[in-house]
Amino acid sequence: MVQRIGARQKLRDSSRNEMIDTTYKTPGELKALTGKTRAETASFLKKLRKKRPKQLDNVVHKLHCEAFEKFDCLDCANCCKTIGPRLTGKDIERLAKYLKVKPSGFIRQYVEVDEDNDYIFKEHPCPFLLPDNYCMVYEQRPKACREYPHTDRKRFYQILTLSHKNCEICPVVFDIVEELKKQSW
Ligand code: SF4
Ligand code: SF4
Repeated sequence: MVQRIGARQKLRDSSRNEMIDTTYKTPGELKALTGKTRAETASFLKKLRKKRPKQLDNVVHKLHCEAFEKFDCLDCANCCKTIGPRLTGKDIERLAKYLKVKPSGFIRQYVEVDEDNDYIFKEHPCPFLLPDNYCMVYEQRPKACREYPHTDRKRFYQILTLSHKNCEICPVVFDIVEELKKQSW
């Protein structure tokens, strides 16, 4: 308790030296944790979206770096196991070439069209996720996989609702949002 109050004070002073210490949580655990604070988080994010604070990107990027400095995606792979990336035409061409098949063959074997008319993988976990959480096509992976969980992108205020959803999948996003809530904006 005393430590939490101390950390909050440091955040208010903008001189916080502690690092985010993300630990692995299953999607089930994240869903339960996110559910507990859903209304409070939604209201916080709504205010943040309205305010569009100039320093938001810098703060989120710093938290992103801190979190991924210590937390390894290989200990998680929740995103690869539960939500597939949206595939662009270029992704499909690149992956098909890498796997030495025709794009039409790649689509037939791995891809389906969702309700938004986007290409997605047919199966979850992703067909290219290996048992040790490595990605079989890492160097050629889809753009959406490279960009997930979007906590290092510009104009983070534009994806606050998406990030709230991602709190149920990604332990790093969950921790970043929780850290943001402790700061005075
Ligand atoms: S991006 Fe997030 S959900 Fe995906 S493996 Fe890394 S920590 Fe896990
Ligand atoms: S292509 Fe690789 S990074 Fe993308 S979801 Fe599949 S296993 Fe994960």
